[in-house]
Amino acid sequence: MTVNRALFDSVMVPNYSPSQVIPVKGMGSRVWDQNDKEYIDFAGGIAVNCLGHCHPNLVAALKEQGEKLWHLSNVMTNEPALRLAEKLVNATFAEKVYFANSGAEANEAALKLARRWALDTHGEKKSQIIAFNKGFHGRTFFTVTVGGQAAYSDGFGPKPGNIDHAEYNDLASLEALISDNTCAVMLEPLQGEGGIVSPTKEFMQGVRDLCDKHNALMIFDEVQTGVGRTGELYAYMGLGVTPDIITTAKALGGGFPIGAMLTTTELAAHLKIGTHGSTYGGNALACAVGEAAFDTVNTPEVLNGVKQREVIIKDGLKAINAKYNVFADIRGQGLLIGAELTEAYQGRAKDFLNAAVDQGLMILVAGVSVIRFTPSLVIPLEDIEQGLARFESAVAAIVNA
Ligand SMILES: *Cc1c(COP(=O)(O)O)cnc(C)c1O
Repeated sequence: MTVNRALFDSVMVPNYSPSQVIPVKGMGSRVWDQNDKEYIDFAGGIAVNCLGHCHPNLVAALKEQGEKLWHLSNVMTNEPALRLAEKLVNATFAEKVYFANSGAEANEAALKLARRWALDTHGEKKSQIIAFNKGFHGRTFFTVTVGGQAAYSDGFGPKPGNIDHAEYNDLASLEALISDNTCAVMLEPLQGEGGIVSPTKEFMQGVRDLCDKHNALMIFDEVQTGVGRTGELYAYMGLGVTPDIITTAKALGGGFPIGAMLTTTELAAHLKIGTHGSTYGGNALACAVGEAAFDTVNTPEVLNGVKQREVIIKDGLKAINAKYNVFADIRGQGLLIGAELTEAYQGRAKDFLNAAVDQGLMILVAGVSVIRFTPSLVIPLEDIEQGLARFESAVAAIVNA
């Protein structure tokens, strides 16, 4: 069997269009493809590989648990799940944890909990969910409908109902929609897929106040921002507001699929026995790796290192921009950084991504006009320096083309 990119088109559903490159090995923030070409990884598996590739702590946890016990189902609980839940509860406002396998599933649980809580405590009328345009919450039908891009939810027949969208960072647009019939307001504490858009503190406080006024739950989707990505353990910690529910996935497993929904004891009580579940949620192997990732990230050294790396990367991008004038804005927080292209390069983020691959650098886009950087939280400083040099070559290749 020849395993190459052509095989993808022959055996895979055509919902993705992956690069021609097929990576086969990774170590830290370096990756090698089938031809042994080396790449520096500024993408981190779309903000998942928070400790790079094959971090020794994660490999050790995987090996140790892999030789002990992989899976039980939720007919019995297991030690890694209990340990990880205890650590999540100790480190956040939350008191209860529900484990899932992905971000979308964690959000699905949050939305179902919100609807069930509202039904139990206020009756049928309180079912409205408000989210924000350009928000992203996953690809199950409920979460994609709550997400703020109709293009992703159209074309699948009737959608889950009573879901409305306001404008991010525009409190008046939320105020116009919210009422005592609102059950929850769901948002990212920094819009990722939607273009790396930070909230203002006033907006966040305003959302919290409106939720309190109308007795609606505030749900933070921290799937991309959680577990150190912004330099805080969770982004809400830097915003001066406490949500009622947070969801976490991506970095939580450092590359192993796991997600979780975190909430208070009072709200959790509404997910009674039998109301929700998952075969794999709380899988022992996933939770063992998650525990090792969480322990490694949740230290002052790593979290402060994120803020230090943010400055280095943003300064590097500014220096490149001073030479080539391709970015209208460089923004984001921690190691969730966006560079928005100028008018002249609108719609061409993917061209920059492809040019970077040619130079041996993996980056991401967030929409068609924003380049996104989400490297490992512990990427070595020399990899940042070399990666930026490769990025400058990619930018030069496009500007001089
Ligand atoms: C990636 C992402 C999701 C979806 O996570 P999956 O693991 O792909 O289901 C949901 N919300 C946000 C904010 C994300 O960045």
